[in-house]
Amino acid sequence: MSDCLFCRFVAREIEPAVVAETDLSLAFKDINPQAPTHVLVVPKRHVPNAGALAAYPEELADVIDLARTVAEQEGLDSGYRLVFNTGADAGQTVFHVHCHLLGGRQLSWPPG
Ligand code: 5GP
Ligand code: ZN
Repeated sequence: MSDCLFCRFVAREIEPAVVAETDLSLAFKDINPQAPTHVLVVPKRHVPNAGALAAYPEELADVIDLARTVAEQEGLDSGYRLVFNTGADAGQTVFHVHCHLLGGRQLSWPPG
């Protein structure tokens, strides 16, 4: 999808700050980090949100596994958070599903 920002990252039409990659997924730094580690992990396939990603179990598993790999790379031994904002009320602003990997500080719960 040429009008999708994250598809353009996947195609490298725009080069994000990539931290890791598999055949199915790409992990890159969030441009507006909310924690010392804030990485977005996306499937290379254009899928709009987490609910729709359930139809692609291989991609879903790969996104979670790549997030785990990045957490290990970043030394997040004491914990990290994975978040899929899904829909406008949850604050989703980019409609190519992405897993937020957050860590490197104490994270409060519940989120706002
Ligand atoms: P959402 O609000 O949809 O859950 O998350 C979208 C995320 O994409 C936000 O955390 C935002 O900072 C990030 N983002 C938006 N535009 C860009 C960009 O051009 N580059 C990168 N690396 N991240 C972006
Ligand atoms: Zn896309």
